[in-house]
Amino acid sequence: MNTLQHATMAYIRNLFQKQAGSHDLSHSMRVYRMAMTIADREPDCDRELVALAALLHDADDPKLFDTRDNANCRAFLRAQGVDEARTREICRIINGVSFSHNRGRRPETPEGRIVQDADRLDAMGAVGIARTFAYGGEHGRSLQDSARHFYEKLLLLRDEMNTETGKALAEDRHRFLRMFIERFEAETGRDC
Ligand code: FE
Repeated sequence: MNTLQHATMAYIRNLFQKQAGSHDLSHSMRVYRMAMTIADREPDCDRELVALAALLHDADDPKLFDTRDNANCRAFLRAQGVDEARTREICRIINGVSFSHNRGRRPETPEGRIVQDADRLDAMGAVGIARTFAYGGEHGRSLQDSARHFYEKLLLLRDEMNTETGKALAEDRHRFLRMFIERFEAETGRDC
């Protein structure tokens, strides 16, 4: 890992200082590690771009920050001396990650596809379930209401993966998700 990546980690550690729960520092770090794992098996990608976009992908998430036009990300990269073209590319990858804003639209670059897969994998499996209930709690929702998110998003993710590695990991996480939902519905005694 190079100096810029270290600086980026320090930056997000500070940025997410007050966040705990569904969109915290650990989410960004898992997305980063997952993106690098996927990148290992994608020969034609720029690993530096993948790393920076993964680390910064939630730095301007409207759920957390009141910024426009990737302002946090841009300001940080400018301060680090990253040039405009590269900054634009990082922002483009980040803006292609959101599930709700990019339905059915696949990122055009390998780096974009990798980071999108990594973020979506973190919404699946055990960690996806944990984050769903954490998010529900953050918004005062009941467990039953939170569980609706399984049908609105989590169960749809498997079929939207881009990379072969992403698809394989998503298959396993999807299976676990289905198992959990079955038990949850049996124990709560009603369909969500
Ligand atoms: Fe995210």
